[in-house]
Amino acid sequence: MIQAAAALAAAHFAAPLAYYLYAKRWLRRPWDVEARDGYTPYITIIVPTYNEAPLIEAKLDDIARQDYPPDKLQIIVVDSASTDGTPEKAERWARQRRAPLEVLREPQRNGKAHALNLALRHARGDIVVITDADSHWPDPQTLRRAARWLSDPTIGAVTCLKRPAGRRGVEATYRDYYNVLRLAESKMWATPIFHGELAAFRKELLEKIGGFPAHLGADDSHTAVLIAASGYRAIAAEDLHCVELVPKQYWRWRVRRAQHLVQHFAASLRLKTPRRFKLPLYAEAYLHLVNPWLLPGAAASLAASGGLPALALLGAGLAALLYKPYRAWVAMQLYLMAGAVRNLWTRDLAWRKEEKTATASRR
Ligand code: GDP
Ligand code: MN
Repeated sequence: MIQAAAALAAAHFAAPLAYYLYAKRWLRRPWDVEARDGYTPYITIIVPTYNEAPLIEAKLDDIARQDYPPDKLQIIVVDSASTDGTPEKAERWARQRRAPLEVLREPQRNGKAHALNLALRHARGDIVVITDADSHWPDPQTLRRAARWLSDPTIGAVTCLKRPAGRRGVEATYRDYYNVLRLAESKMWATPIFHGELAAFRKELLEKIGGFPAHLGADDSHTAVLIAASGYRAIAAEDLHCVELVPKQYWRWRVRRAQHLVQHFAASLRLKTPRRFKLPLYAEAYLHLVNPWLLPGAAASLAASGGLPALALLGAGLAALLYKPYRAWVAMQLYLMAGAVRNLWTRDLAWRKEEKTATASRR
């Protein structure tokens, strides 16, 4: 039993480590992208909202700070039956700023992707950019940079690298590790994980894949994978950064996001994909769907084998939780397992609004 436990634990840690080291090597490779400066396509920015009254004006201000020709920009807020006056606040912002802004209202809340599809029908841009209300773009050149990547005809979708507001604790550790993977996968062909803080897509490709997938939660990532599967690159770009607010109810938020990733990868396994996309897609699917379960498997075999050596190992595994990166890793595995289990009774497509403030301090 103790051998079984050792094998499970070794496999659990070796796979992500090997993938990470492999990714590091890819980081040194060139992008293999032919981008041209000064490409200014018509862009539609869509901000989906559900009860974002405390944040919506700051979000629109942030977009207005972008250096992009105003006559090439359409901004849409699509709201789904907010009860806190979010769409009214957005309209007031537009009146005060004399800024063109389209506010669309869904009478009922059917989830984010459903709302995005309504907005997509009003989008006039060649490029459609989704950005969540609880995020911001520190660099005013963000849209220009995103457009530059999309000037390469092989690229169909672009996302940002993200960091939590204030760079705090476990959440920041988690991001440093994952950003390496995002960039390396992008160089391989495409990354299967996109961020709602900035997800830019060619509109014709969105139309080709039938709009945003409304049957699962990680619509940003799944849209990117559908585009990658259809033969275009979907990349996280090294010069696009976005900041997201971390909610106070940290673990509940993480479980829900993990749950959506599980839905996304399970659905992605059914797709036929280009050869260069297979490694990042299947590696990430394995890491999200299978690998977490080896950890409790190892712990259970240890506990079952009893005896002093086994208990000592179990104790060492627990004591190592004092080490922050290990703790962040184990927490992520727990979120993924909790998310997978939670999928048995709810898909959580219209999730509970989390409370977020820019200064909420955590761990
Ligand atoms: P997270 O980023 O996964 O934690 O999810 P958020 O709760 O931050 O939601 C992402 C964005 O989608 C935010 O701007 C929300 O206001 C918005 N959103 C969430 N649910 C809905 C919905 O049902 N309809 C619309 N229109 N927007 C939504
Ligand atoms: Mn968010």
